[in-house]
Amino acid sequence: MVVTPIVCPWCNTKNDFDAKFCNDCSLGLDEKSIMDYDHQKVENRKLGDIETHLIEADPRIKNLLISAVQKVAVDRSKAIEDNNKELIPITGYC
Ligand SMILES: [Zn+2]
Repeated sequence: MVVTPIVCPWCNTKNDFDAKFCNDCSLGLDEKSIMDYDHQKVENRKLGDIETHLIEADPRIKNLLISAVQKVAVDRSKAIEDNNKELIPITGYC
């Protein structure tokens, strides 16, 4: 009998074929937890990790990020004024 390891959809770690939770990131591996899990939060967390690493590597990155975020915020408030529906929705923000 060949047992196929379960590859974690969140971090790509291979887990035992009967594992319910990932050995590495502890997130659920069954279909229900996968369906329930908020993909956007996972993406945001990954982005947060990248941001932290970048800022540790070079503190100037922080100022660049802040000005980029401010620019997006200005673009968004303009889009809201212009009623530009394409730019307005941002989902999963917390
Ligand atoms: Zn995992």
